[in-house]
Amino acid sequence: MTHQDVEILGVGAGPANLALAVALEELAPDLAARTLLVEQSAGTVWQRGLLIPWAQSQVSFLKDLATLRNPCSRFTFVNYLHQTGRLDAFMSLGTFTPYRSEISDYLRWVAEELAQVRIHYNRRAVEVRPVRDAAGRLTHWEAGFADGATARARHLVLGTGRDPRIPEVFRGLPADRVVHSSEYSEQIAALPGDAPRRIAVIGGAQSALEMVQAVREDLPGCEPVLVVRGIGLTPYVSSKFTSRFYSVDASREFYEMDAAARELVLEEMARSNYAGVTPELLDGLYHQMYRDRLAGKDALRILTATEVVAAAHTDGTVVLTLRDRLTGELSELACDRVLLGTGYEPRMPAAVRRLQAALGLAELEVSRNYRVRTAEADIGRLYLQGVNEATHGIADSLLSTMASRAGDIVADLLPQAERPRPAGEGARATPWTSHDCAR
Ligand SMILES: Cc1cc2nc3c(=O)[nH]c(=O)nc-3n(C[C@H](O)[C@H](O)[C@H](O)COP(=O)(O)OP(=O)(O)OC[C@H]3O[C@@H](n4cnc5c(N)ncnc54)[C@H](O)[C@@H]3O)c2cc1C
Repeated sequence: MTHQDVEILGVGAGPANLALAVALEELAPDLAARTLLVEQSAGTVWQRGLLIPWAQSQVSFLKDLATLRNPCSRFTFVNYLHQTGRLDAFMSLGTFTPYRSEISDYLRWVAEELAQVRIHYNRRAVEVRPVRDAAGRLTHWEAGFADGATARARHLVLGTGRDPRIPEVFRGLPADRVVHSSEYSEQIAALPGDAPRRIAVIGGAQSALEMVQAVREDLPGCEPVLVVRGIGLTPYVSSKFTSRFYSVDASREFYEMDAAARELVLEEMARSNYAGVTPELLDGLYHQMYRDRLAGKDALRILTATEVVAAAHTDGTVVLTLRDRLTGELSELACDRVLLGTGYEPRMPAAVRRLQAALGLAELEVSRNYRVRTAEADIGRLYLQGVNEATHGIADSLLSTMASRAGDIVADLLPQAERPRPAGEGARATPWTSHDCAR
C-alpha cells in the first residue's frame, strides 16, 4: 500500500492549504518539494455544496491566494483571468466579486499550476496521530487514509474547514431527508425527477436564502417553506468603515487584544458575516415573491419568529413541530426534505479536538503564526487554518487573510535567518479607533 514520507503534510486542498502551497513555492521551494496535500474529493472545487451558477463571492478578487502577500505572484486571480483569456471581459463586468464558480475554477487552476507541492486527490485522512520518541518528545505525525495509504510527516497543517452545524432536533431524522447546505448541490441533483417536493428550508441567513432560490429552479413546482427564528430577514450589517476589520493588520491587532476586547469586537462584527443576507439576494427574493403574488400564486411561504422544537419521520414524510416565538403557539409542518441553512460550528472541528486529546492538551492555544503550542518548539509542529476566529478575528474562516496567513506559516516553518519579511511590515499601522481611509 502507498506510503509517503514528507516534511509537511497538509490535510485538505481547499483555499487555505492551496494558499500555503503557493507561499511555499514562492518563499521556500525546498520545503515545497517536500510537501504533500491530501484532498478527499476528486478535484479542487470551492463550496461544492452550494456552487449555484448565479452565486457570487462576497469578498474582493484581490483577496485571492497570493495578492495581499505578493501582488507580483503568478498565482493571482488577475493572472488566472489573463491566462484563461477573460481579463478584458471580467473588467467589463465592473465587479470586485466574481461568480463563486469562477473562484472555484481559479482554485483548480492554482492547484494545476503548482510546480513542486504535490496534491493527492481522493485521499481522505481518517486518522492522524502524533508520534513520540523514547523520551516522550513529539517527533512527527502519522496519517492513515480511507484508501489504505499512509503518510509520515514532520509537520502537519490542517486546512479541512469547519464542521457543519446540525441542530440537535434534526439529528434523529434519516440522513436522506435532511440536507445541510454543504451538501445541497449533490443531494438535490441526485433526487429522481418525480421525487415529492414539499421542502422546508431552515434558517434566515445567506445559505438558507440561496437554497430557497436554488430549489425553486432545481425542483420546478416545489413548495418551499422558509422557517426563520428571527422576526424578519435582514441584510449583513457592514460598511466601508467596518471592512477594515477583515484586513491582515486587523487580524494581527486582534491577536494582541485581551479576551474581553476580542469578545466585544467579535460581537459587534458578527452581523457583518453571520445571520445576514446580501442586499441583492434579499431584494431579488422580495421581487420574486411580489411577482408570484401578481401572478396569483404564493409559491414561497416564510414563517418568521418560528423555531423547530421537534422533528419526526413517518411513512416517508417528515413532520416538524413549530413554535411561534411570539405567541408560543405550536403547529405542524409536513415535508419531504428539510434543507438546513444552519451554518457551521463555531467551536474547533471534531478532528482538531481529537488531536488535542491525543496531544494531552487541556487547552488548545494557537500562536500568532497559527501553530498549536506544544512542549516541543521545533519538531512535530501542528498548524490550524480557518478555525481560529476566537484568536485571529472575524476574517479567519474567509479568503480575506489567507494569502498573508500562508506567508506567516511559511515564515514560522523556516529558520530565523531564512524568514521573509512579513507582508505589510513597515507600512503605517492604523489603530483600531481610527476611521480614516488612508489605506
Ligand atoms: C456557501 C459558502 C460561501 C462562502 N463564500 C465565501 C466568500 O464569498 N468569501 C469568503 O471569503 N469566504 C466564503 N466562504 C467561507 C469559506 O469557508 C472560505 O472561503 C474557504 O472556503 C475556507 O477555506 P478552507 O480551505 O479553510 O476550507 P474549505 O474550503 O472547507 O476546504 C477544506 C478542504 O478540505 C477537504 N477535507 C476535509 N476533510 C478532509 C479529510 N479528512 N481528508 C482530506 N481532505 C479533507 C475538503 O474536501 C475541502 O476541499 C463561504 C462559505 C460557504 C459555506
